[in-house]
Amino acid sequence: TLTQKVAVVTGSTSGIGLGIARALAGAGADVVLNGFGEVGAIEELRAGLAAEFGVRVGYHGADLSKPSEIAALIAHAEETFGSVDVLVNNAGIQHVAPVEDFPAERWDAVIALNLSAVFHGIHHALPGMKRRGWGRILNIASVHGHVASVNKAAYVAAKHGVVGLTKTVALETAGTGITCNAICPGWVLTPLVQKQIDAIASSKNIPEPQARAELLGAKQPSGAFVTPDELGGLAVFLCSDSAAQMTGASLLMDGGWTAQ
Ligand code: NAD
Repeated sequence: TLTQKVAVVTGSTSGIGLGIARALAGAGADVVLNGFGEVGAIEELRAGLAAEFGVRVGYHGADLSKPSEIAALIAHAEETFGSVDVLVNNAGIQHVAPVEDFPAERWDAVIALNLSAVFHGIHHALPGMKRRGWGRILNIASVHGHVASVNKAAYVAAKHGVVGLTKTVALETAGTGITCNAICPGWVLTPLVQKQIDAIASSKNIPEPQARAELLGAKQPSGAFVTPDELGGLAVFLCSDSAAQMTGASLLMDGGWTAQ
């Protein structure tokens, strides 16, 4: 179990990050939440997790597109909870447009959050992990770290970058008690994907359930969404002793998307 371990999960006020934060808390870890949202709702989430699992749960509202705030998030976790033993780099955004229409400002924003923030988080958390001789770094990449889709230039570039960064950090930490792996989900029904479903529904003028089925049907052979709980289970496994020799891997959980 992860009792006495502290996990920082970025972008954990929603979606996959929240599922992973819940699973780590369920395994006994103290958790520092991060992400945007309404103050009252975040406090409810924080207190709810602490009560449900009997662990310490904190929150830091760092904007991970800003390197100085990432430093502050890691420092806050170390100061308030004593360490960062598990770092889950999850916060991410999407922008969908053909490359010639892709706004340069959106390119910069996606790269800053989906790729550079992963570097900055690791950069700041690694010294403490090395001192303690134990650490787990989980980078939430995507199937788009392995394959591409049209109209997702920045996202695909960032996620391929995350898979490469994961391998480099795995090599640099090999033999230290620290592992670094990437988790690569297919479609998960979160607000990030709901926006894409809504865009299909409105551009094709079809009902939302049909747009949802089209989105899944185009890529994911299982015909079902991966769930945040399932990804939480994988995260807990990667933090376990059984996964001590698993490092530099990028693990697909994609309903068969990349088997095609
Ligand atoms: P989501 O929109 O539900 O959640 C994103 C989280 O990140 C939220 O908590 C949000 O507040 C936070 N966030 C956004 N911008 C931030 C910023 N600048 N600083 C700090 N936090 C910020 O999205 P999700 O679908 O759960 O995505 C989580 C991760 O999983 C992303 O990296 C995404 O690329 C990846 N992913 C998602 C899917 C999917 O199908 N949903 C598939 C593969 C990979």
